Amino acid sequence: MAEQRPVALVTGGSRGIGSAICVELARAGHHVLINYRSDAEAAEQTLARVREAGSDGELCPFDVADAEQAGEAMARLLDPKPDLAVLVNNAGVTADGLLAMMPPEDWGRVIDTSLGGFYNVTRPVLKRMVERRGGNIVTISSASAHMANRGQTNYAAAKAGLIAASKTLAREVARLGIRVNVVAPGLIDTDMTEAVPRKMLKQLIPMARMGRAEEVAKVVTWLCGEDASYVTGAVIDVNGGMM
Ligand code: NDP
Repeated sequence: MAEQRPVALVTGGSRGIGSAICVELARAGHHVLINYRSDAEAAEQTLARVREAGSDGELCPFDVADAEQAGEAMARLLDPKPDLAVLVNNAGVTADGLLAMMPPEDWGRVIDTSLGGFYNVTRPVLKRMVERRGGNIVTISSASAHMANRGQTNYAAAKAGLIAASKTLAREVARLGIRVNVVAPGLIDTDMTEAVPRKMLKQLIPMARMGRAEEVAKVVTWLCGEDASYVTGAVIDVNGGMM
């Protein structure tokens, strides 16, 4: 591991918003640990973009929702005591459906990935950040946390839970030099939103377009930098004016 650069771990870094965050953090001088669950080819492409951005990184495949797998992977990652300056909890999934018809596995998968993943990854990272006396944790929530979209009880509960957990954690670790913030994107053009009918966008979004992953990544990277040194416990909307 390149110890001369501060290290950033990005969960779900292989595609979409996570991939853009890896590249922006690389541009800002971080060595990037790219977590993903299954798509190794996409993760390799992200690593190539990290290198093009002038830094380096490593692939860290594990399922953030699986406590045992995540625990083992995190222990391996943290064993050489990397200069882990940044954690971005970005991995997330949707499994939409009306609650009355929602099978327990669709409820569980969404909650376990977002909230379980937050716990499984953040907890071991905190120990390292306390040792190095500082760090930044940014978690990706969603406009869905407060917009009450039909068919998203599981996703809304998970994403609202992340806001509450992050604000509470921000209070717990503020005096230890660790900042904890949330970014809540609206509709961003990634695989996750492929099925959203484009003709709805003008009505839904004041800026009348989807956001780009890079537009989220730049806010995340700003939060992790010195220019945001007095920002903690914040939730920053990146949603083209959707309220
Ligand atoms: P994508 O579906 O494009 O990418 C999801 C990423 O998360 C992939 O890298 C995927 O890896 C990874 N991932 C999923 N489950 C796990 C898991 N259990 N363990 C490890 N990695 C996992 O999503 P987006 O880029 O669109 O979304 C990124 C985040 O932003 C999510 O939290 C999402 O909820 C949130 N968000 C997205 C919005 C949007 O409009 N796109 C709006 C608001 C919030 P692999 O492919 O290997 O499974």
